[in-house]
Amino acid sequence: MDRTMGMLVIISGPSGSGKGTVVKKLDPDMGYAVSTSVTTRNPRVGEVNGKDYFFISEEEFVKMREEHQLLEHFAYVGNYYGTPKPYVERQIAEGKIVVLEIEVNGALQVKEKFPDAVLVFLMPPTFTELERRLVNRGTENAVTIEDRLKKSLEEIPLIDQYDYLVINDEVARAVAKVDALVMAERLKPVRNQQTIKDFASSQVKMEHYKL
Ligand code: 5GP
Repeated sequence: MDRTMGMLVIISGPSGSGKGTVVKKLDPDMGYAVSTSVTTRNPRVGEVNGKDYFFISEEEFVKMREEHQLLEHFAYVGNYYGTPKPYVERQIAEGKIVVLEIEVNGALQVKEKFPDAVLVFLMPPTFTELERRLVNRGTENAVTIEDRLKKSLEEIPLIDQYDYLVINDEVARAVAKVDALVMAERLKPVRNQQTIKDFASSQVKMEHYKL
């Protein structure tokens, strides 16, 4: 039986790197459980409350933060974002691969609390491509696009603190790389302590084999 422990996988990357698209393609049948963040930013056209985010007021956000209901939180380009703790804890306890799609500061906060968390940085093939994707997405005005592009350059020096770098040149390929790295992580002995203990404590009648 697969007794691999639950784990946390954090996916970060610049706005427009395609994180959302890649994360949506991770197969729940493989054990992935994607966390839904809370945010104080306004929903974009087509975004659904409770699915893309829990869209909440600043007062609600402050209350959650003060009541220690957030695993991590950060202010990004004028809005607050945070990861609700109970979902993550529950899914990890069930052995799931919990995926957080969050920016770098939040990711490093989580890594401090959970050193076993796996940090993946998703990068578009070039900066020009990132610019093109943000403009084509059409969800932000010119000022916000510029803020987001600036922010992505600020994130570059922090990439060294990540465990993996995945270039998102094509979604299916990026998803396959995430699957591969998660699989490799799950095979580490440190994540399979129960299996090792069970094997070691098996009662074998050694006298059976004596000549
Ligand atoms: P967007 O407004 O484009 O949905 O998200 C802006 C940035 O905030 C993205 O880099 C996204 O990954 C990040 N983000 C989304 N949810 C969270 C969260 O719960 N915590 C943190 N720290 N960042 C988040």
